[in-house]
Amino acid sequence: MRAYRLPLVVLAALWPGDGRSQEPVSDPDVLVYVTGVNLVPRPVNLRAQAIASAIFARINVRITWLESMPRPAQGSGNPVVIHVQYVRRAADDCSREALAYSQLLSKAGKEISVLVEQVRMTAAPFHFEQVLGHVLAHEIAHSLASASYHSKTGVMKAVWDRTDFMAMGRAPLDFTNLDVILIRRGLAARVATLPRNPSGL
Ligand SMILES: [Zn+2]
Repeated sequence: MRAYRLPLVVLAALWPGDGRSQEPVSDPDVLVYVTGVNLVPRPVNLRAQAIASAIFARINVRITWLESMPRPAQGSGNPVVIHVQYVRRAADDCSREALAYSQLLSKAGKEISVLVEQVRMTAAPFHFEQVLGHVLAHEIAHSLASASYHSKTGVMKAVWDRTDFMAMGRAPLDFTNLDVILIRRGLAARVATLPRNPSGL
């Protein structure tokens, strides 16, 4: 949600042709490891991860959650490795409204910082785990698409309002068609970088 540190040019750099070569069977593994989990009650974290997984399952993207950095060769082919770190508060240069931010071009890979206290305060009248799950899905989608775009509705909306939060309580929000196209193109770009004989990370 908001607070992006990467240039939009990334979107153009990773735009691989017309996208007609999308084949779900060739999707790379998406490995997400989470640190700072002591800042979130374990049941809340597990439920939030399950909600994010369910959101991605609707578009046939499977997330594997790990509790530590994946070992070399963990995951098949050329896996997408995303590091989610729960942090208590934002860095000084982060928007006060931000719930999380991503650094898509970090040397260490794709990194997401989730601002736990901000999410907790935003979610206060609603269910923390549901809002946290949507924050995870939102930021992971940015990472998979390698883009900082936002949609007018759903998971990729820049700022959710009360209506959105209430909707989350009934069922997870959806990705828009454009969200799905961008995510799948991001995954296709990843596949395109596979070596002829992939050997892991
Ligand atoms: Zn966003």
